[in-house]
Amino acid sequence: MKLSVVCPAYNEVEVLPLFCAQLRDVLAAVGEPYEVLLVDDGSRDGTAAWLREEAARDPHLRVIRLARNFGHQVALTAGLDHASGDAVITMDSDLQHPPELIPTLLERWREGAQIVYTERLDTAGVGPLKRLTSRLFYGLINRASATPIPLNAADFRLLDRQVVDSLQRLPERARFLRGLIAWVGYQQAVVPFRAPARAAGQTKYTFRKMLRFALDAVTSFSSLPLRLASYFGFAVSAAGAVLGLATVADYLLRPGRNEPGYTTIVCLILLIGGLQLVSLGIIGEYIARIYEEVKGRPLYLIRETVGFEQTAP
Ligand code: UDP
Ligand code: MG
Repeated sequence: MKLSVVCPAYNEVEVLPLFCAQLRDVLAAVGEPYEVLLVDDGSRDGTAAWLREEAARDPHLRVIRLARNFGHQVALTAGLDHASGDAVITMDSDLQHPPELIPTLLERWREGAQIVYTERLDTAGVGPLKRLTSRLFYGLINRASATPIPLNAADFRLLDRQVVDSLQRLPERARFLRGLIAWVGYQQAVVPFRAPARAAGQTKYTFRKMLRFALDAVTSFSSLPLRLASYFGFAVSAAGAVLGLATVADYLLRPGRNEPGYTTIVCLILLIGGLQLVSLGIIGEYIARIYEEVKGRPLYLIRETVGFEQTAP
């Protein structure tokens, strides 16, 4: 059995020496053949130079340098695509994902779990704003999506070879890996951990990158935003019908009280407003279906088949 460890790094030269040393100690203690794939996501500090030197020293290290900064999720995907292990672990390279947990992940895998994901119980040094936005985000996505996405799941996880191969069959470009991994299914296990603060350097997730991440997540796992127009449309139409009837009744019961034409205008505005939103919603429904088709995800994934190799008597 061979183990691959995939770590994306973006301008991490301050923390990489410490991270690589700790990771090497843990993996040496595990005692299985392994490779470490460090994906340099277009770093502009000394990351690339340091990695090149380190690769000359360490025969286990493979470096993938992306042509520019493609973002964390794409860097992870590039690493997964190049990993050759029977089990592949992904983790951040800032030591917020403790390498000491790797033996536990492997243990769960040996017990039969094909996806061992980790759950942050608490993160040291995280402000209340990030905590709140993270909670809001998971609340929203789980309400809007049919795929339940585990709360506080980190991008620190072990994937079986079969899962890695399955992920490669999801061709979509907006890669919200936490969702994709929840979508593929298989047997999953969870390991909780307490994330320490970054060992060195600053967070590489800017507000803009987080917003992009959240938008990718919601739009790839839910077409609810597209359908909102139909819900508004029905609500406006219903309210419009009531108000329209009231205006007509008012006109009939107390003639001469309103300006001439008032009743007609109110009824027309309500009718047309409702119709417009409903037709937008119908278009949204079709676009949502086009979107589902365009994503080109496989209809299903097979974990195993039984009895196909037998020949009937
Ligand atoms: N990262 C990356 N590309 C980016 C942003 C981040 O490869 O555009 C890497 C980064 O080097 C780190 C991991 O993704 O290994 C998580 O980023 P970070 O620790 O900055 O995020 P946080 O833990 O603060 O959410
Ligand atoms: Mg981090």
